[in-house]
Amino acid sequence: MNQPLMISLDSLAQPIDFEALEAAAKSGGCASSSCGSSAKPDDMDADVWERIKDHPCYSEEAHHYFARMHVAVAPACNIQCHYCNRKYDCANESRPGVVSEKLTPDQARRKVIAVANEVPQLSVLGIAGPGDACYDWTKTRATFDRIAKDIPDIKLCISTNGLALPDHVDELAAMNVDHVTITINMVDPEIGAKIYPWIFYQHRRWHGVEAARILHERQMLGLEMLTARGILTKINSVMIPGINDEHLIEVNRWVKARGAFLHNVMPLISDPAHGTHYGLTGQRGPTAMELKALQDRLEGGAKLMRHCRQCRADAVGLLGEDRGQEFTLDQLPEAVAYDPAKRAAYREVVARERGDHVAAKQSAVAAVKDSAQEGGTLLVAVATKGGGRVNEHFGHAREFQVYEASAKGIVFVGHRKVDNYCMGGFGEDATLDGVIAALEGIAVVLCAKIGDCPQDMLTAAGITATDRYALDYIETAIGALYAATFGRAIEQAVA
Ligand code: SF4
Ligand code: SF4
Repeated sequence: MNQPLMISLDSLAQPIDFEALEAAAKSGGCASSSCGSSAKPDDMDADVWERIKDHPCYSEEAHHYFARMHVAVAPACNIQCHYCNRKYDCANESRPGVVSEKLTPDQARRKVIAVANEVPQLSVLGIAGPGDACYDWTKTRATFDRIAKDIPDIKLCISTNGLALPDHVDELAAMNVDHVTITINMVDPEIGAKIYPWIFYQHRRWHGVEAARILHERQMLGLEMLTARGILTKINSVMIPGINDEHLIEVNRWVKARGAFLHNVMPLISDPAHGTHYGLTGQRGPTAMELKALQDRLEGGAKLMRHCRQCRADAVGLLGEDRGQEFTLDQLPEAVAYDPAKRAAYREVVARERGDHVAAKQSAVAAVKDSAQEGGTLLVAVATKGGGRVNEHFGHAREFQVYEASAKGIVFVGHRKVDNYCMGGFGEDATLDGVIAALEGIAVVLCAKIGDCPQDMLTAAGITATDRYALDYIETAIGALYAATFGRAIEQAVA
């Protein structure tokens, strides 16, 4: 019997062993009885699924398998947000708008081809700041034109503040840009005036409420135009405590009514060292539990994206990882030619793995729903490096994916970023304190391996950590944990 599933799992660790990947793709066999079953959710049109199934941001399920890259080609911006400082440049920072090198369209083409040849998970190319892809339109269009010729199956994505969007919707549709993100933080200009000090529109600067009103009207018009053309639109909203947190419920209603496909509520990142207005004036961001509470209140409105990682504007790789520093311009060959073999082989292997994963997930979710008890909710943090499995060591994790098991099933509800606890084999107590703080509210941590010392410290903090479910699918592991937990103490369940 062939073993494509473990090849796929291994393939998600870097560097990918291309020969093994290719052999698995050619083998054609599958160890799973569910091979070929679709991962499509029952309540989604086949056409929409086809457009999002390999998009790591538009499909939570796809983000276990597929990667995106951003190219920073459009640095000019037509508004100022109080949470942005486009001058900031630090390779250690991970947040939107931060970038180590800006590219010309030709440099971007070189970089995208080099990445596509090395990172077979790559499925999406985005232009997501710093700057605005619609305002700096000539560079956006030139970049997409070049890359679409070389890699016709790559999905093209833009992110925009929406002010110049209505001017380019028809061109976006003509260029087959099927995924657009608009950042919408308010639908009330009075609130907008607290977020945007000015905009530049029709050759002049506008300030205050008048500026926010223009921005709001252009954002709504742009969203309606995209919806009318069938383009899938995601709305990003930055949650700013005391400014727009309550108001985002209203924003969710407005964007749902205008056809938004997803609503992604992200926490404000604010630090004086970033030099932003909010950072310098002490505006705080929300805690992980405040963000989750708001997202929970928004359930039932526009569908939520909860797996956003607030990537750098030059991010490369699976969500949650950033391989951008491996592909800086000085490391790229002068001449590049696209070789589609790796990406094609990877897709074949993943298609089989996904069928198996979906079957395992459905069965685990059904079991949790069946056995759920009143108030039986479990928040579980998972260390994973992709493939939908519990396959990362506790000490190597840069983030934990958080799932909630309850009468609703097993639902991905977010992630918690952490510093690596294990640096070159030595655990740092100070770092572990930070990890424990980041795991606020979590009952159980699942990982591939954990040492006695961190496990004991987590236990002392009221968090149970176990490697008992190493290499299982995440939902299978959580399902088993849930079944064992309710009726017995967690500590007994993982013993
Ligand atoms: S639209 Fe983007 S690039 Fe422009 S100020 Fe806001 S966050 Fe910064
Ligand atoms: S910032 Fe969020 S939406 Fe954008 S690529 Fe990263 S995960 Fe996807």
